[in-house]
Amino acid sequence: MTFDAVILDSHVVLPTGIVDKNIVIDQGKIVKLTSDIPQCDSKINARGLVALPGIIDPHVHYGVYSPIEQAAVTESKVAAVGGITTMMRMLRMGGSYRKNLDSHLSESAKSHYVDYTIHASILHESQIDEMEFCMKKGITSFKLYMNLGDEVGHVYMDMVPGKNLLVEDKVEISSKIVERVIEKASALGCNVLVHAEDYQMCSCGIREAREKNKNGLGAWSESRPAESEVKSIITASEMARKAGCTIYFVHIGSQTAMDAILKERKNGTKIFVETCPHYLTLSHESQQGYLAKVMPPIRSSKDTERIWREMQGNTIDTIGTDHVANQLRLKIGGNTVWDALAGFPGMGTMLPILLSEGVNRGKITLPQLSNLTSLNAAKIFGMYPKKGIIQKDSDADLVLADLKAEKKASAELLGGFSDYTVYEGWTLKGWPVKTLVRGTMIAEDFKVVGNPGFGKFIPRPTS
Ligand SMILES: [Zn+2]
Repeated sequence: MTFDAVILDSHVVLPTGIVDKNIVIDQGKIVKLTSDIPQCDSKINARGLVALPGIIDPHVHYGVYSPIEQAAVTESKVAAVGGITTMMRMLRMGGSYRKNLDSHLSESAKSHYVDYTIHASILHESQIDEMEFCMKKGITSFKLYMNLGDEVGHVYMDMVPGKNLLVEDKVEISSKIVERVIEKASALGCNVLVHAEDYQMCSCGIREAREKNKNGLGAWSESRPAESEVKSIITASEMARKAGCTIYFVHIGSQTAMDAILKERKNGTKIFVETCPHYLTLSHESQQGYLAKVMPPIRSSKDTERIWREMQGNTIDTIGTDHVANQLRLKIGGNTVWDALAGFPGMGTMLPILLSEGVNRGKITLPQLSNLTSLNAAKIFGMYPKKGIIQKDSDADLVLADLKAEKKASAELLGGFSDYTVYEGWTLKGWPVKTLVRGTMIAEDFKVVGNPGFGKFIPRPTS
């Protein structure tokens, strides 16, 4: 018989090692790894390249600063160029999921180049009763923003599909909401994603810093101290331990937060940890201006070193980008760090950063990188073995990377809605050169060759 395609001569990254085999693809699935060259309609020469399972980005914000039918197009293009084959959207809405989810799903279905799925944020008490509804739609993970409340409770929601209008809301994530979501998620067999920063401590910290006319990313970090992360980590972990719920702490980037999590794990709470490329590469000491303003803040170079060590020791499970599809004119609101928007784009630079600063510097191995960026997320979020691994019967989601390629990162190279990157001008060694989703080439040499609407929503079962 004739198969659809074969990828020839790449170094194939498996969870525990690397093999030199050809990857045979048929009807979107991996058929086998082989040393032969079976009859195929197309042959992809990958000599000198490594084949990684397509990256799963567990943490993406898009649809907030442009409506989803536009954001899905622009941001899934960046994903494709960056080697990301499944993007997990952090959906935020103020109203009812029952009323509004379908319009997000139908607009999404028409406009993605790569596969995608959704985490539903629970921002108001009334949404707790809609968790079963979300589950029936294949959404089996829920997000809590413990940083939102009080004077720091204002947040932009996702836009209403079809309407290019910012949607601001006031949110107060009380400990009662946190507890109810954790209990309910446990009963439903769902994971809870937690943004761990205590809003009261952050409110207070920001007020004090502004009164003293402090400025800069150092002041931003000081105003939202790591202790505020610790407070939320302890609260959520204790509740989860009692309820038997699994917690996934998003964007952990400080030594102090890491210490607290390791302690709570020892106490018996089931915890997964995500970090982001910026907590591995940026510190407030090294960054000028406000572009790298993010929540939680980038910390010191000591913290970045510690996060690398935790990755090396496998105590960190995943890497998410916390990609925010915004633009400079929105980002820089005034002359101080307090006026700038938090968050920045990251999907296009995630893999090159990890290849350049991690693999090529000998800090992590390719299998480690692959497990951190694909396998573990697939397992945690109910997509394994369909996604996350190069093996027989899995989706042929693949990224072929050239470890020797050197290029300067720029917003122009990566594309998307954003007109800047915090890595502008960084020369990175190691770039994705081909991205395949379910066996179809979506991006090649920084050009998107796929079609919008090809990317599919991946419904997920509960554990
Ligand atoms: Zn986020």
